[in-house]
Amino acid sequence: MKLDSRAVHAGREPRAGEPLPPPIVQASVYVYEDLDEYDAVASGRKPGHVYGRYSGENVAALEAAVAALEGSEGAMGAASGMSALFATVLACAPRPGPVVVAADAYGTTLSLLNQDLAGLGYQVREVDVLDLEAVGGQLKGAALMLCETISNPLCRVCDQEAIARLCRDGGVPLLVDNTFASPILCRPLELGATGVLHSVSKYIGGHSDLIAGLLAGPRDLVERARGVMTRTGGSLGPFEAWLALRGLRTLHLRMARHSENGLRLATGLAGLKGVAAVHHPLLPGSPSRAVASRLLPDGSGGMFAFDLEGGRPAVQAMLSRFRLVRFAASLAGVETTISYPEITSHRSLSAEQRLALGVTLGTVRVSAGLEHPDDLLEDFRQALAGPA
Ligand code: PLP
Repeated sequence: MKLDSRAVHAGREPRAGEPLPPPIVQASVYVYEDLDEYDAVASGRKPGHVYGRYSGENVAALEAAVAALEGSEGAMGAASGMSALFATVLACAPRPGPVVVAADAYGTTLSLLNQDLAGLGYQVREVDVLDLEAVGGQLKGAALMLCETISNPLCRVCDQEAIARLCRDGGVPLLVDNTFASPILCRPLELGATGVLHSVSKYIGGHSDLIAGLLAGPRDLVERARGVMTRTGGSLGPFEAWLALRGLRTLHLRMARHSENGLRLATGLAGLKGVAAVHHPLLPGSPSRAVASRLLPDGSGGMFAFDLEGGRPAVQAMLSRFRLVRFAASLAGVETTISYPEITSHRSLSAEQRLALGVTLGTVRVSAGLEHPDDLLEDFRQALAGPA
């Protein structure tokens, strides 16, 4: 089946007399009459569920659907992207060892490694993932490598195919956070990754109304991660899983429009007053253009950033003039939003650290939504033009 059909159908095959959409099974526990049957289900020999922290109908349906899109043997839903990441890192590296991570990875990913895991003895090696020679150097003796398909906020795209080859040669598991691309635009397992992580709260959910996370990968990794996740209590609830699966049913349509709107807006913004630079991986001149064109042939999603002359006052002035676009700290919903990394995603970093990542006082991140691109461009145009 093609990806679009998988998005619509995967994870559920309703039988005669059952509702077409999945019902919400809002249960923490399931009943049994036969001890042997309970034993078989609890030990995984027979399909079914016993207790909501381990599994449930709606979570299992979401897991099956994302596994079908990512092309993985299995998947593990979790209460958040961070919960999925934490369980997966411990599953890959149960004993402290060196963890190589993209220096521009999501801020809380870096905080988890640098604050919590470093305290337990893990050594964090941050690396510029666009520099393959540097990556190769850092992989020596590493327990794990972590990178992202598209970075935040400058939307740099690393050559994860080449990184996967380096990891395979060095015997290092590679985890790819595929949140910004979604499995519609990129399937890291096909490119050689060991496991794929998602903040389902973003494009898979797609409507800014849930928090969830997920790991997709080989069955043994998924089950090891599930063990950590259930022991540390990071399980996903039925309603969030149901909402996420509902969102996933239209993921292919949304990603096409997010990508189209993102590129249209980025192209249009490049010529507007006060815009010093636009960071979109598919724009001519982007340092990621060649790799992004190869790894993301169907588009790069709705995320991009731009640098506004005039810093924070100019960003505030633009914000106060928007009619359609909203300021919000998250991304990937149906509405177009902007965020200001200085005080949102990158607020825990020092000014020097932000500058080293290319985040300036004028950097604005855009999450292009699903409105008509003409309306969006007009809103940016009037907001940047200022009072007539
Ligand atoms: N990975 C990326 C790329 C993210 O942007 C985020 C959240 O913004 C996360 C992981 C963490 O996900 P969650 O907020 O669902 O825990």
